[in-house]
Amino acid sequence: MSDTNAETIYDVVIIGGGPAGSTAGIYTARANLSTLILDKGLTTGALGTTSKIANFPGIAGEISGAELLRTIRMQAESFGAKYINDKAIGTDLSANPKLVFGNFGVYSARAVIIATGSLGRSNLIKGEAELLGRGVSYCAVCDAAFFKQAVVAVAGKSDEAVEEALYLSRFASKVYLFSPAPELSAPAELIAELRANPKVELIAGATLREIYGKEHVEGVRFARRGSETEQDLPVKGVFIYLQGGVPITDFLQGQLETSPGGCLIVDREFQTKIPGVFAVGDVLCQHIKQAVIAASDGATAGIAVEKYLRGRSKMGVDWK
Ligand SMILES: Cc1cc2nc3c(=O)[nH]c(=O)nc-3n(C[C@H](O)[C@H](O)[C@H](O)COP(=O)(O)OP(=O)(O)OC[C@H]3O[C@@H](n4cnc5c(N)ncnc54)[C@H](O)[C@@H]3O)c2cc1C
Repeated sequence: MSDTNAETIYDVVIIGGGPAGSTAGIYTARANLSTLILDKGLTTGALGTTSKIANFPGIAGEISGAELLRTIRMQAESFGAKYINDKAIGTDLSANPKLVFGNFGVYSARAVIIATGSLGRSNLIKGEAELLGRGVSYCAVCDAAFFKQAVVAVAGKSDEAVEEALYLSRFASKVYLFSPAPELSAPAELIAELRANPKVELIAGATLREIYGKEHVEGVRFARRGSETEQDLPVKGVFIYLQGGVPITDFLQGQLETSPGGCLIVDREFQTKIPGVFAVGDVLCQHIKQAVIAASDGATAGIAVEKYLRGRSKMGVDWK
């Protein structure tokens, strides 16, 4: 999982392995560019969470978004792209080589493609902002050690949330996983691992209404689906992996220009204002959000990255 050897300089690091990022990876890997795709979870993005998709060209009949994504990823891997399950938490895009900081390592590359989608959160839970860093966290790997033998809560339903709950169970005495949906959207094997873990208790179909505490987190208030009755649960930490509907650009810390709605701005070759830094897919807030359109962005950006890295004067595909 980790790749802390920052001496490996990839031709391109792609942040986000949805249809946009993975298609970009098909094109860059096929052009013999060393390609690393960082992704925080198969069921964390828009396609990965979609239960059925029937309008992706070449795939007749219905398929789950996660299955389709797995196939696209296998295709990228067949050309040599490498996937690492990690979450980008920072970048230095002006450095040479460009740096991407993840939970598990630092990754360097001559070009970067941002393809993180638009399932970012805009609404905070009551108390979340006030207690951030005082029991509220978004990174189990960073903070789990502070919660040895403590009771903690995790909020989310994706494989990212399940993996983080399992990771926390190595430190905490008890982990409550609050899934806003009745069903988790993680792969079956991960759910089986979660259910077999005696330290983790799944509270499905429950929403966190408030995180409370004076100096530090003291507990959470939650309500079950279809009920307005609120219940309190004392916990020392709350780890949040919920999804919303805004572009995911927080890890860029303002290094790239965005529209007032927070969408990344690119030119017709999907390049941002920083040379060698590209962005594709839903993170651009395309007029129409569809998997095939995100994939199309990825294809164009993959070709543009090759042009950029090899100093070509024109875009073009010259492999068969
Ligand atoms: C409920 C729903 C139903 C849909 N149905 C259809 C449909 O039927 N047909 C259709 O064509 N389209 C459908 N769409 C739209 C389609 O899924 C999206 O337009 C498409 O997935 C966008 O692709 P993307 O690669 O830009 O983003 P995403 O698919 O969201 O992928 C982004 C990836 O980036 C990763 N990521 C995010 N942040 C980080 C980070 N910091 N570090 C590392 N990785 C990160 C995520 O894990 C994810 O894998 C649907 C969308 C939704 C939400």
